[in-house]
Amino acid sequence: MPRGKRKDLPTGPTPPASTPGPSGDARPPILGHESVLRRLQTYHRQRWRGGTMLWAGPPAVGKKTLALRFAQGYLCEQGLFLGCGTCHACRLIDQGHHPDVIVFTAEPGQTHSIEDVWRFQHQITLRPWHGDFKFFLWDDAERMRQQAANAMLKTLEEPPEDTITILITSQVYRILPTIRSRAQILRFGPVREDVLLSHLMRLGEWTEAEARWVIRWSQGRPGLVLQPRGFWELHRRLRRAVLDWFQQWLPQPQEAWWRYMEMDVRPLTGLAQEVFRVTGGIYTADGWVWNRWWVQQVVLHGLMILRDLYWLRLGLRSLIVNVDVIGTLERMAAWVEPTWVERRVETWLSFLHDMAVYHFGGAWPVPGRLTK
Ligand SMILES: [Zn+2]
Repeated sequence: MPRGKRKDLPTGPTPPASTPGPSGDARPPILGHESVLRRLQTYHRQRWRGGTMLWAGPPAVGKKTLALRFAQGYLCEQGLFLGCGTCHACRLIDQGHHPDVIVFTAEPGQTHSIEDVWRFQHQITLRPWHGDFKFFLWDDAERMRQQAANAMLKTLEEPPEDTITILITSQVYRILPTIRSRAQILRFGPVREDVLLSHLMRLGEWTEAEARWVIRWSQGRPGLVLQPRGFWELHRRLRRAVLDWFQQWLPQPQEAWWRYMEMDVRPLTGLAQEVFRVTGGIYTADGWVWNRWWVQQVVLHGLMILRDLYWLRLGLRSLIVNVDVIGTLERMAAWVEPTWVERRVETWLSFLHDMAVYHFGGAWPVPGRLTK
């Protein structure tokens, strides 16, 4: 049960988040997450506090953005649900400068430090500076060693009444069960395609087929969908390189094609050069350093193309990711059988591993341990 329920506090109107904000509100829209928003509205109305929330869901789905909005709603001078975006408090939170909204972020590839937990334990005992509430946001909360998590648990067992702690995670099973059981859990899923599509079409920068490609490639995650156009242009060039590379050998009989690709590394040089040209690399004393995150994206493009070929052969056009190049894919699909694609996914992965060793002088980046 939520504690600290206080009904006598004045509460602002609670418009649905899909309506445009008040004039001057330049914050990007919150897309999707309707059931989460309904729950948050209830928390907002009740001024729920003195507890911990655990926000779980895939990366880039909008958890941290919404957590900051939720805090804005509590501290906003107009009292609006998710904040007005224009008052002093809302702007301070947007700028990351509000003294009552403290965000803990772990360095890439690192865990949250025990010093951060100690800092949290101290700060949570202090009175809020401005308003009536203090927010603590832990991004990637699962990235915590046992000792730090245990220290944290002690504080979360009896948090001060004027505080709200939000633990944000994409790997909820890695959060201590004792912490999980003390938290209000909010689950985030991917945002529906039609919601994202109508938003992208309103921006007017995309054809519908391109927009669907962006959304399906992003698996319904607004943090990716809303990346600038240039980000997607890079993706398009990488995919083009992978597609060209696949097609180069398509006129060969199927088995000969793959045998050739598997045994002859020369056609890879062109792909490697294109990836390098598109994503950039830096020459250091240790040799060429690749942007590993982008290189991983090339692997994904190869897998998505194979997957699309598979669906096309089964006649499942509605599942295609690369909808904007479906004509090309259909021509390619004429050459392959579904069972053949199944066998080749594994080949593609080991093949790319070899390519990494051959061209990049190291192992292929392991998903989840990448730096941008
Ligand atoms: Zn405001």
